[in-house]
Amino acid sequence: MQRLSHWINNQAVNTDEPTLEDINPVNGEILASVPLAGQNTVNQAVACAVDAQQRWAKEPVHKRAQVMFNLRALIKQHHDELVQLISVDNGKTLADAKGELQRGLEVVEYACGAPELLKGEHSRLVASDIDSWSEFHPLGVVLGITPFNFPAMVPLWMIPMALICGNAFILKPSEKVPLAATRLAELLAEAGLPAGIFNIVHGGRDTAEALIDHKDIKAVSFVGSTAAAKAIYQRAAAAGKRVQALGGAKNHAVIMPDADLENAASTLIGAAFGGTGQRCMAISVAVCVGDETADRLIEHLLPKMDELKLSAEENQQADMGPLIDQVAVTRVNSILSQAKEQGAELVCDGRQYAALPDKGCFVGPSLVDKVSASMSCYEQEIFGPVLSLVRVKELDDAIALTNAHMYGNGACIFTESGAAANRFSNTVEAGMVGVNVPLPVPMAFHSFGGWKQSLFGDLHAYGPDGVRFYTKRKTVTQRWLKQTGHSTAFGQL
Ligand code: NAD
Repeated sequence: MQRLSHWINNQAVNTDEPTLEDINPVNGEILASVPLAGQNTVNQAVACAVDAQQRWAKEPVHKRAQVMFNLRALIKQHHDELVQLISVDNGKTLADAKGELQRGLEVVEYACGAPELLKGEHSRLVASDIDSWSEFHPLGVVLGITPFNFPAMVPLWMIPMALICGNAFILKPSEKVPLAATRLAELLAEAGLPAGIFNIVHGGRDTAEALIDHKDIKAVSFVGSTAAAKAIYQRAAAAGKRVQALGGAKNHAVIMPDADLENAASTLIGAAFGGTGQRCMAISVAVCVGDETADRLIEHLLPKMDELKLSAEENQQADMGPLIDQVAVTRVNSILSQAKEQGAELVCDGRQYAALPDKGCFVGPSLVDKVSASMSCYEQEIFGPVLSLVRVKELDDAIALTNAHMYGNGACIFTESGAAANRFSNTVEAGMVGVNVPLPVPMAFHSFGGWKQSLFGDLHAYGPDGVRFYTKRKTVTQRWLKQTGHSTAFGQL
């Protein structure tokens, strides 16, 4: 079994720290043992990053961009290998792994525009003889802590943006899926990134906390569960650090009576069950306006759910992979039991799904009807292949229900009515909104983030907000007298 190394100063660093097992959720195979970094490794990585960052910040911006051009080429060159690694480590299907890598690559491509992104703002003649401009300076060494569900994409939301802004970066990947990050580190080195600018420190919560607390870490980007996001936000902010902490979600899709239900059902299948529901942008609640809409939607959904293939073998072509581990299986199964006890109707019970593989961390696609706001399957983020269906009378009821939920990552509406779509997108309390689009994940040149308990902090991930997050602004106001011939410290000009 492979023992993973930390990555510090463009080198694999081995330690005798305790380890955790990284397990393939398809078959329980142990893929690697993951070291849990202690204070010494944390100090070593941060010290090395502090030293290297001072030189990196002085590199011309087009040279920093050039590393991103090279990285883009290398990711494309090693595309299949990276996809395979993501799929094996996380259990997701090859199609999902390809989609994830593509979305990560788009942030690398955005970062290639570093000279444009960082050129600042200039105002001529803000007063007589006075010009003023704003510059964007790097923060120093910044930290990223990432979740299990996107082993490559979420690190790539952060790394390119932080690096082009002149920072050094330390990644603490999810201890459940550490493999892709290590390969990205090697590719960054091959792309020409100087030693010490990108480092990986493996570990779990204790390691993350030691990194957050380190005095030389200037900012923290976090993506993961809301409980951790909130704790990290409070911890880092109390120490005066900049922090963006993206948390959990419960994304609602409102289905209007005039919606094209065949289209809505097809896209909901992908949005609710793709990635086995382990996506922060998964649609986990369908809010149907009118009983007839709900009944008809179910008629469209059920045959499509029956056709979903679960992959019982590594990397097989399939529609759904396993959940990340047995803990997740137990949690999803127990929420399904509670839903029934609390009066919901299990139209399709994933625990008894016909094509359920007999090994691995699988739960089949589940559809729960007649869900109400007080049920645990509605209140909690399930993070599994469960679509809850809530029936309401009017669009305003659907909006009020969505807005009352603690999470506000994404929300969407399916309708043929421009007026309904407008009303929804103007009033729904979510950071990302879709109209006849189930997963409104912003492109790399916009920014990604939710509202309410789905994001703690002010700036969203990647895109223009990414540049703002990873830089501090300096505004210079300069006056040069028009007359020549005045004396200066350097003599007569
Ligand atoms: P998690 O919160 O358990 O772990 C995420 C990372 O944080 C891991 O690296 C883990 O080691 C570390 N960690 C956990 N608790 C910590 C703590 N108290 N202090 C410091 N570090 C801590 O999340 P997960 O189970 O890996 O990922 C699933 C969650 O991530 C879901 O809730 C999902 O909605 C969320 N997520 C959100 C987004 C988004 O953009 N909003 C994107 C992807 C995933």
